[in-house]
Amino acid sequence: MAIEAKADLLNEQQRDVAGVIRALKERFADRCATSHALREQHGHTTTWLTNQPPDAVVFAETTDEVAEIVRLCAAENIPVIAFGTGTSLEGHVNAPRGGISIDLSRMNRVLEVNSDDLDCRVEAGVTRKQLNSYIRDTGLFFPIDPGADASLGGMAATRASGTNAVRYGTMKDAVLGLTVVTADGSIIKTGGRARKSSAGYDLTRLFVGSEGTLGIITELTIRLHGQPEAISGGVCPFPDVEAACQAVIMTIQMGLPVARIELLDSLQVKACNAYSKLDLAETPTLFLEFHGSEAGVQEQSEMFSAIADELGGGPFKWATVAEDRTRLWSARHDAYWAGKGLRPEAQIVATDVCVPISRLAECVIQTAQDIEAEGLLAPIVGHVGDGNFHVQILVDLDDPEEMRKSEAFVERLAIRALDMGGTCTGEHGVGQGKQKYMRREHGDALEMMQAIKQALDPHNLMNPGKILPQS
Ligand SMILES: Cc1cc2nc3c(=O)[nH]c(=O)nc-3n(C[C@H](O)[C@H](O)[C@H](O)COP(=O)(O)OP(=O)(O)OC[C@H]3O[C@@H](n4cnc5c(N)ncnc54)[C@H](O)[C@@H]3O)c2cc1C
Repeated sequence: MAIEAKADLLNEQQRDVAGVIRALKERFADRCATSHALREQHGHTTTWLTNQPPDAVVFAETTDEVAEIVRLCAAENIPVIAFGTGTSLEGHVNAPRGGISIDLSRMNRVLEVNSDDLDCRVEAGVTRKQLNSYIRDTGLFFPIDPGADASLGGMAATRASGTNAVRYGTMKDAVLGLTVVTADGSIIKTGGRARKSSAGYDLTRLFVGSEGTLGIITELTIRLHGQPEAISGGVCPFPDVEAACQAVIMTIQMGLPVARIELLDSLQVKACNAYSKLDLAETPTLFLEFHGSEAGVQEQSEMFSAIADELGGGPFKWATVAEDRTRLWSARHDAYWAGKGLRPEAQIVATDVCVPISRLAECVIQTAQDIEAEGLLAPIVGHVGDGNFHVQILVDLDDPEEMRKSEAFVERLAIRALDMGGTCTGEHGVGQGKQKYMRREHGDALEMMQAIKQALDPHNLMNPGKILPQS
């Protein structure tokens, strides 16, 4: 029996959930809630995975409170599930073994901004948009932008990225240090404010992407960037997906420092036209943005136009006015909801993979052919500069045949990406939905991950049933 399964069996025999909820209500009053609707919302899942609500939700306001809740739960072997804004896509916040959801949304203070050092310290519940509004007047910005206005703690926990990652990196690059509540309720600090360090194991990066399975992040020190002097961008249509992907590959291979380069297939463009009132040609399209000096962005734009031209793409439609650019990127960020508009009564199952850039065209083309062969309604959209793309399948969860087809498609997509030297998820994370690919992706290294989990959370109480397969 796997280590986690043994720990769970033991825990089940020793739990007093009702007693812990009583203690939490006594201590946190109405900040500890057990209503069905709230519990269900905190076990929210945007896949076909069944909703598995926690037994109670507690709204923490300080690191010490988080530690107190974790200690109370640990004493009774009760799982704890960290909750940011609940926008994760693979059943991450489900509570398959019940337990207490610790909602960090009230920990939403920006604690310090060090403009001279281009960094800041925030509580885990601060969202990416909140941080950017807070620092707008400093001339700095925080570039990582998943489609949702997620919490920075949740983004660190899923190692999130977004449209700007091709230029500014992902959460693994943005996080300099963390405050973490560990499985026994201790509080530790990892990393610091130095831009680099050779001092010991990199615990910051261990917690980034650990999806709440090793500890709960309560504060983050984050790297910021100067707002670029000049921004230019626009949209460029292509005759087919292959030409669009080849343009991306050439752009990256030439070292053109694009800030954003996003692919929308024709179905996604159609959806965005309808949802965001755009009038783009309904053909595979790249959304682009260049950051730098006036001369730099001009040069980059010209170089990209030449690449597009060579591949039969264009004409490049410039969005020179800031409002037009904002409108385009809002449409890109709303792609998920636009996709839903193609079949409003259906659910969206969003999945992502990432491949080495040279395999991008091949992977996207095979995926498009697969969608067509299966008769699925599934737009493709992606942060293709990183080799990362998403498929949003519109599916009737109550139709077994549609479900079978969709699940089989997701599996083929994950395996296709892995066979091309890629990963089964570039940014959404593993949660429950991608566990079955962990062995194929990591091989024997999975045992080392299990050993780390066992060392840091021996009773398997931190968001159990996530990332690591159970047998
Ligand atoms: C429309 C839409 C578009 C999206 N686009 C993108 C995209 O472009 N790129 C991308 O990367 N993602 C994207 N996502 C996914 C999602 O926004 C990310 O996974 C996000 O990083 C999750 O943050 P959250 O605050 O919602 O975390 P939650 O969903 O609340 O939690 C996610 C996981 O992290 C854990 N967790 C949360 N907070 C903490 C904490 N403080 N300490 C430890 N663990 C914690 C949870 O237990 C859970 O396992 C999108 C989602 C939607 C709905």
